[in-house]
Amino acid sequence: MNSDSRFGLQKLTLLDYPGQVACTIFLHGCNFRCPFCHNPALVTGSEEALEYSFADVLAFLETRRDRLDAVCITGGEPLLHEESGLLAEAAKGMGYLVKLDTNGSLPARLKALVAAGSVDYVAMDIKNAQEKYAATCGIEHWEPVRESAEYLLSGPVAYEFRTTVTGNLHEAADFVSIGRWLAGAKRYYLQGFRDSGAILGGDAAPFAVTEEQLRSFLAAVKPFIPAAEIRGVDL
Ligand code: SF4
Repeated sequence: MNSDSRFGLQKLTLLDYPGQVACTIFLHGCNFRCPFCHNPALVTGSEEALEYSFADVLAFLETRRDRLDAVCITGGEPLLHEESGLLAEAAKGMGYLVKLDTNGSLPARLKALVAAGSVDYVAMDIKNAQEKYAATCGIEHWEPVRESAEYLLSGPVAYEFRTTVTGNLHEAADFVSIGRWLAGAKRYYLQGFRDSGAILGGDAAPFAVTEEQLRSFLAAVKPFIPAAEIRGVDL
């Protein structure tokens, strides 16, 4: 990313930052290839197609100071880009709360942002049990993800872990494994896969998950993470 970088912008969201009126800024590109990714245009599409420049985003934030509480920085994987830190710092300087979404693959950058006080809340994806990480999101090395998770568990900033749950890539035993891995996490959300109409892997049907599966996965993880919840479905 460089000075010509482009960004996506959702000007208002009541869902992305827990309890806050926020906007969401999207950064281009990702180092994972989750087949169930619901935003393939951001991951593999053209950055030029994104509507806003860095200056546009800063100008927007300036004009919304009195109307928005918070800024969510997401992707793709926002930590791939230097601008994620610059955006977070600028937003904090304007008085916003800042939430960062990350896949956890860049722990040094995550730690630097938190240590700088530029982030108030981190939402980190947990793609699957450690032993199934590579197969789930197309990466070779999951150790950086483990490092990020350990860092958040140590409590330097408010956080949540969340898993997009699929019917074909996940089974109950995976949630026992995740539970052991993240035992005692303060927030962990299971989010059932939803077909956005265009996912990275093409055909959405294999990823569909039933309510029954979600319930059984929650039951598997609860003994280890009592705070675990299903998000986005009324059960
Ligand atoms: S789901 Fe997230 S981590 Fe996976 S490819 Fe999409 S943006 Fe990247």
